[in-house]
Amino acid sequence: MRGIAAVPSYVVMQPTTLCNLDCVYCYLPLRAADRRMPLTVAEAVAASVNPWAASGRFSVVWHGGEPLAAGREHLAALLAPFGPAVEHHVQTNATLIDDAWCAFFAEHGIRVSVSVDGPRARNGERVTRGGRPAYDRILAGVAALRRHGLPFSALAVVSRPEPGLATELYDYFLDLGCDVLGINIEETEGVNTRTNARDAAAVTGFWAELVGAWRRDPRIHLREIEWSLRYAGAVLAGTSDDLLPRRLDPIPTVSHDGSVVVLSPELAGFTDPRYGDFSSGNVLTTPLAEILAGAGRTPWVGEFLTGVEACRSSCPYFGFCGGGHAANRYFELGRFDGTETEHCRNSKIRLLEGVLEHARDHESPAA
Ligand code: SF4
Repeated sequence: MRGIAAVPSYVVMQPTTLCNLDCVYCYLPLRAADRRMPLTVAEAVAASVNPWAASGRFSVVWHGGEPLAAGREHLAALLAPFGPAVEHHVQTNATLIDDAWCAFFAEHGIRVSVSVDGPRARNGERVTRGGRPAYDRILAGVAALRRHGLPFSALAVVSRPEPGLATELYDYFLDLGCDVLGINIEETEGVNTRTNARDAAAVTGFWAELVGAWRRDPRIHLREIEWSLRYAGAVLAGTSDDLLPRRLDPIPTVSHDGSVVVLSPELAGFTDPRYGDFSSGNVLTTPLAEILAGAGRTPWVGEFLTGVEACRSSCPYFGFCGGGHAANRYFELGRFDGTETEHCRNSKIRLLEGVLEHARDHESPAA
């Protein structure tokens, strides 16, 4: 894997900066402001995306803020320029989902992913702008999805890994009815400056316990565990070198104003004296395809690629991780050419160690 691919596998779009919630660990800098994406931005993005989608699977992920806070009418107008081959996804806090939104998702073929951190007691940091718990509203949104028979994914943030939590979460999400689950250990990112330094044994134990819970009833596609098992299987088969993509997926995030930040959506909306606004261009003046073709020349991106090479030569987990995420380096280390971060320890190194710990603890005595 070297350099950045010119064609992404998906694009992240920010229909509004606004979020109706105010979660304690949120990284978004502009979530109290309703800056909406104009239709011209969606039209410009679609001009590049439609040809990509015609030659292979391609997704647009509507992210926020809270994308549903843009309203159905505006979101429908933003969707309109995209051709029928484009798959649409929405990452939502679910609090605004009702029957009308479910009809909208069905009509536009939108796949929904809900942010929820587990049972009520685990959602204390998902709160409204008035500081009140959002849990009942989240569950009402999930109930609407279920009533309409719409499959959905879930994304949970874990702030304090502790024994028993992984089993509790997995059982909860089995009951909730999601078919895909992603788990994020809380990250120090954006405006969330809380430390993500965690006890190594607690995090490794959390992942090991999660593998055990999943193996007892593997009905949910558990994102992190499936990645790890695929990697472990490839190592055993001698094919692990083929797992990482040949080039990094640029994962462009198109902000409400059309500016494009590659590799890490979390950098959008921030500025730095050294790196400027992190953007590689704006779709209102330059086609997205052209921006991505030149993204490797964005100064911070070059620095990040230097960091990826440093990871390649120093880290035994590189074949699994591929060099981590740009935003984690920036927000933890203040630059892009470092290597290890607390995030990669929690979510790559200890994840793989946890899977191996589970395998060691459950290996057959005859093996
Ligand atoms: S685990 Fe950390 S140090 Fe290792 S390759 Fe990934 S980002 Fe780099």
